[in-house]
Amino acid sequence: MVRLVAVSKTQPVERIRLLAALGQRDFGENYVREALPKIEALRDLNLTWHFIGRVQSNKTAEIARAFDWVHTVDRDRIARRLSEQRPAGWAPLNVCVQVNISGETSKSGVAPDAVEPLLEAIAGLPRLRLRGLMALPAPETALERQRQACRALAQIYARCRERHGFDTLSMGTSADLQAAILEGATCVRIGTALFGPRP
Ligand SMILES: *Cc1c(COP(=O)(O)O)cnc(C)c1O
Repeated sequence: MVRLVAVSKTQPVERIRLLAALGQRDFGENYVREALPKIEALRDLNLTWHFIGRVQSNKTAEIARAFDWVHTVDRDRIARRLSEQRPAGWAPLNVCVQVNISGETSKSGVAPDAVEPLLEAIAGLPRLRLRGLMALPAPETALERQRQACRALAQIYARCRERHGFDTLSMGTSADLQAAILEGATCVRIGTALFGPRP
């Protein structure tokens, strides 16, 4: 089973409602300021919200309250803040560690050789539930190149999976969905292929 996260950034509330009426439950947003009013306006639908953007440390309190998942944890300090700011008595916040799999200096994500120490740090945080790994590989058009990047993440996932009880390998966007699923993605994040081009 592959979880489909519908990436609704820049999409208005009415379009999210339409997709929800077809049975879609999981939605992904990148920008806190845009997401909060949308989440509030759709509260009646009980959707599951995934934060997939870069986490700024001054936004962690809002993220820890409004979202069910954060796919983009890439530093210790952010993880600690999210745990401290997740309200007591709520279900733990589900998190994935973002890995910079293509080694792009401009990209978010922890370097592959720094994944394990970060996982150890997160495993000790009481209000987070560590679910797995996430990546947004550099754009490639050839399927085999896309698969190479996805495979690199899948290999790290396989190594850490048992120790950390992982169940989520979050990779694949509209452009590399097929490669991601062929390499074992359990969660894909799809925007334009569902909603059409972003307005
Ligand atoms: C925007 C975004 C997506 C969706 O991209 P599409 O090309 O529209 O499918 C997936 N993951 C992340 C992290 C994104 O920022």
